Amino acid sequence: MSKRSRLDFKPTHYRASHWYTLKVFNGRWVFSSSLLHGSGHRLVWSGIARRAAAKGIHGLIDPLLTLVFPEDCRICGASLKTISRVPVCDRCLSEPQPLCAEYACSACRMPFVSAFPLDETGRCSLCRLGLLNFDAVYSYGSYAGTLRTLVHLLKFEKMHTLARPLSGLILRMLPREQRFDFIVPVPLHWWRRKQRGFNQSELLAKEIGARWNAPVAHALRRVRATTPQTGLTNAKRRANLRGAFQTASKFAKGALQDTRILLVDDVITTGTSAAACAAVLKRAGAAHVAVAAVARTDRRLDLPIFALSTAAAGGNS
Ligand SMILES: [Zn+2]
Ligand SMILES: [Zn+2]
Repeated sequence: MSKRSRLDFKPTHYRASHWYTLKVFNGRWVFSSSLLHGSGHRLVWSGIARRAAAKGIHGLIDPLLTLVFPEDCRICGASLKTISRVPVCDRCLSEPQPLCAEYACSACRMPFVSAFPLDETGRCSLCRLGLLNFDAVYSYGSYAGTLRTLVHLLKFEKMHTLARPLSGLILRMLPREQRFDFIVPVPLHWWRRKQRGFNQSELLAKEIGARWNAPVAHALRRVRATTPQTGLTNAKRRANLRGAFQTASKFAKGALQDTRILLVDDVITTGTSAAACAAVLKRAGAAHVAVAAVARTDRRLDLPIFALSTAAAGGNS
């Protein structure tokens, strides 16, 4: 059993009901947020602390604490040796492997267990019927294992600092010779964005834009909150998303004419959300729409893909 000593204190500026714990663990001082509330992994704010957080203090203090007092890796639990704003160890960050499939659609890169669903040009039925509307897909790995956990930490645990390493995975898949006039994030409905506090696709798009030297354009608006896509067939997903996206007014009058666009999402499930966005962008004049995502669901995996929790499904983000 590790030898620990603990020092408890209560910062007056929060007047929080929770005591903060500074401990010595394996010979180093650690301000572990997991100790702040006993069982979980995040600091639980309550009462006045919650109101303070709403005023932005949480946004200021939390990254500072993470910076000064390294936590344990949020995936494998190993002690983080170096001070980093990303609370995941290098081993876990480098674990996700690119998705390799012997059979994949030549257009949307959807992996298949056999060549049966592909036509003589290598396209899947959705691409053959022109239902996906986009011209190319660049995604890194399967939405499973560590990569899925990393996306969840970004999206549901609000670990914004993971946007950089995750966008780095997308950048590895983008062909260097490609030029994009705009990087466009898949938008969230304003109510969903307000609930979550951010749009994970925007965070990824910002990182990609900065490193690809292309402007991020909020060219799309989600005008209709849709019911969760989980468990729906492709046709029902398309019907569910019909009319859900529009061009933002600033981009409605010719601003997208003949442009090449990289549409960014966190996860591609069936591609119907990206297809709905791509259709709107093409109607607004875009000449080429490529889709980029950290991960995509891999139907070859023996996973109950459509039984994933509603919150976890990328397609209903
Ligand atoms: Zn780890
Ligand atoms: Zn396809």
